[in-house]
Amino acid sequence: GIPQAPPPAVATRKPTRTLDVGGVLVGGGAPVSVQSMTTTVTADVNATLQQIAELTAAGCQIVRVAVPSQDDAEALPIIAKKSKIPVIADIHFQPKYVFAAIDAGCAAVRVNPGNIKKFDDKIAEIAKAASQAGTPIRIGVNAGSLDPRLLTKYGKPTAEALVESALWECSLFEEHGFRDIKISVKHHDPVVMIRAYRLLSQQCDYPLHLGVTEAGPAFQGTVKSAVAFGALLSEGIGDTIRVSLSAPPVEEVKVGTAILESLGLRERGLEIVSCPSCGRAQVDVYKLAEEVTAGLDGLPVPLRVAVMGCVVNGPGEAREADLGVASGNGKGQIFVKGEVIKTVPESQIVETLITEALRIAEEMGAE
Ligand code: SF4
Repeated sequence: GIPQAPPPAVATRKPTRTLDVGGVLVGGGAPVSVQSMTTTVTADVNATLQQIAELTAAGCQIVRVAVPSQDDAEALPIIAKKSKIPVIADIHFQPKYVFAAIDAGCAAVRVNPGNIKKFDDKIAEIAKAASQAGTPIRIGVNAGSLDPRLLTKYGKPTAEALVESALWECSLFEEHGFRDIKISVKHHDPVVMIRAYRLLSQQCDYPLHLGVTEAGPAFQGTVKSAVAFGALLSEGIGDTIRVSLSAPPVEEVKVGTAILESLGLRERGLEIVSCPSCGRAQVDVYKLAEEVTAGLDGLPVPLRVAVMGCVVNGPGEAREADLGVASGNGKGQIFVKGEVIKTVPESQIVETLITEALRIAEEMGAE
């Protein structure tokens, strides 16, 4: 079979406390997990569970649901019970829903210091209930809803303001001996966001949930999140991630997973190494790469497949990959682990690669 060396990780992770979020460990060196959030009305139990199932199938490991009303709070027990992945209740303004979420068996509760001013006198009760139930709390600071006191102090939601808000809220919980906390300090600007998480990481050892908030439509949001998470994760900062896109949440999970794979923080799945094509290309590289990608979609093994347009870098890249093709003169040289196993006419390149990929996958023990 093909030897399976794990990809090299980008950095040593900063040590953080470990949280158990409904069976998924966050922090303390546990693998960085991918989260998303449902877009359904939470009280619509069937729709919400259906979307959670889709997210689970896409590789989402923790899911958050919004709880803006009593109906939503009442839906939590069944959703928490039936979801196959841990469910986090997202609560703003209403302390009573925090207790409802804890009672419902949610894996964690997210609160927002900027929107819970009324919470401060309830922290003792929340800490007690959460501690008894073993329910972690995420303190989720967001630039758009920064605590007004800090907004006045700093003039705008700076990195320092976000961090101060988060650590202030932590201190209220700490006064009651509660430390099962993770933190996010989200901002729409990756530059501010990166700075905020760096500061936070220097000042506490709570696990950090990375997010660029209001990141935008799919393309822009993907770039912003990849850049921001890449910068932080490459410094060892970040224990769980949520990509926010104005797009279906399954897309968020795909992007989050791809970011972790790119950084070697997650075993890579199928990876197509294809050249950008240039004036030397002797084959339609875009079409070839697309057809190979489509043909191998869902293959449950880490496989690097090189699709190269000519013989300049073609043989080199194809040799480095598990499987590859270097095209030229209407033919494709097919490589498996550095050896040319055959040369086929251009029309047979795609089917040959797919056949070989399936054979290798079978050797790797895929079903
Ligand atoms: Fe151009 Fe060949 Fe490189 Fe592809 S592999 S970009 S066709 S030189």
